[in-house]
Amino acid sequence: MASRYSFLRQVNKAFDRAAEYTDHDPQLLKQIKAVNSVYHITFPVMRDDGSIEVLQAWRAEHSHHKLPTKGGIRYSMAVNEDEVTALAALMSYKCAIVDVPFGGAKGGIKIARHKYSVGELERITRRYTFELIKKNFIGPGTDVPAPDFGTGSAEMAWIADTYTQMSAGELNSLACVTAKPVSQGGIRGRTEATGRGVYFGVREACAVADDMKGAGLTPGLEGKRVVVQGLGNVGYHAAKFLQEGGAVLVGLAEYEGAVYDPGGLDVDRVVAHRKATGTILDYPGATNVVPVKRALELECDILIPAALENQIDTENAGRIQARVIGEAANGPVTPEAEEELVGRGVLIVPDLLLNAGGVTVSYFEWVKNLSHVRFGRMQKRFEQGAYRRILAGVEHLTDKHFSEPELRDFARGASEEDLVNSGLEETMVLAYDQVRLVRDRLGGEVDLRTAAFINAIDKIAAAYEHLGIFP
Ligand code: NAD
Repeated sequence: MASRYSFLRQVNKAFDRAAEYTDHDPQLLKQIKAVNSVYHITFPVMRDDGSIEVLQAWRAEHSHHKLPTKGGIRYSMAVNEDEVTALAALMSYKCAIVDVPFGGAKGGIKIARHKYSVGELERITRRYTFELIKKNFIGPGTDVPAPDFGTGSAEMAWIADTYTQMSAGELNSLACVTAKPVSQGGIRGRTEATGRGVYFGVREACAVADDMKGAGLTPGLEGKRVVVQGLGNVGYHAAKFLQEGGAVLVGLAEYEGAVYDPGGLDVDRVVAHRKATGTILDYPGATNVVPVKRALELECDILIPAALENQIDTENAGRIQARVIGEAANGPVTPEAEEELVGRGVLIVPDLLLNAGGVTVSYFEWVKNLSHVRFGRMQKRFEQGAYRRILAGVEHLTDKHFSEPELRDFARGASEEDLVNSGLEETMVLAYDQVRLVRDRLGGEVDLRTAAFINAIDKIAAAYEHLGIFP
């Protein structure tokens, strides 16, 4: 059964549950929870056939305790004000958890993107950006969008270009949006970042022996059977890195159905098959699973919902066999289903922690845009020289010699991508640890979601306390 709570109420319910474990002033908690501003836009678009369509769009800025605000833009028919504000609120808490100095925001346009040509999507995106500019809902220091469900780097490039055209002479204009193509000021590693972060988070979860014991599993990711729902940006990359990290992908699902093979699937081959045939179904050697929602109930150790919210509810929770659920999507488990699953000992790694890798690397991109220099450009060669000198010293002392390929490998300076991935790993590992420590400090009274919210509330409360109230 669908949740009796709207998405925003689900987020606020989790907030309230966590707030009980803090001793902050109730008025301060009210201020943290409140959505600061919501902009509802109605604008026309000219279709390729000359007809005119009127579209609904939103941008919500949840919290201005840190600026700019930050959050993706979603293109989907399910977009509405409640969804956008709920996602904006989650962004505030997410940014706090990974110590990214932004408030939370989210935007969306209510469209089924597959019904529009590339030209139409460009016109829609540029007009939406213009509407945001008009009301000061976008800018390097005010509000910085990124991709979400149904959008990617192409839309971000159009947003960056529109903003730049409209702000002649603004030196930092490219920092108005993140996850741009590298040629447009993007950063290497951003496309993969959310999925890679999901991998780091799941790996950390699997490393905690007590948690694995509680879930009836052995520690370590190696050999764990994984099902992934949604092979878009987040799901595909999460699947790829989990596979590379030693997990076995037994089930992969897209909206038309799923394929299951207990012997393991190769995500790139499955994606190539889908591209070639137009469907994920009938993948050689695998069993078809339809309707797609049944994929969530497949026998596995770890389930990664990476599509949309409200996928696991009280209707199917009882049939979920996974012992760990890694929330790559935002809000995939309803609160009612969560209660049932946690009661059965299922470990849920919550969205606001697990999918925070995207905003983390978006932050790196924003910093890159403001500093106008690629990470690694200044020090890569210097590092290589320093490592070479150390290796030469080792050779001298040991009277042994490294081969040239060994020297090149050992003396490699860090590239932009190396630094981004290293910063992402550090951030995710630290964030996971902090949340786990909050939970453990409370003697296991709370689950990881509540611990993540407590962690976020404490950090945002500290920021508000130091800010004071204007005027
Ligand atoms: P996306 O549009 O790239 O991919 C979503 C995929 O899910 C698509 O391939 C779509 O066909 C598939 N899908 C839709 N309904 C499905 C269903 N019922 N069953 C199976 N597959 C289905 O979107 P994304 O950017 O990967 O976002 C996915 C989720 O991750 C969203 O909840 C989003 O808010 C969250 N998220 C995204 C990012 C990011 O950086 N893109 C960051 C944090 C969180």
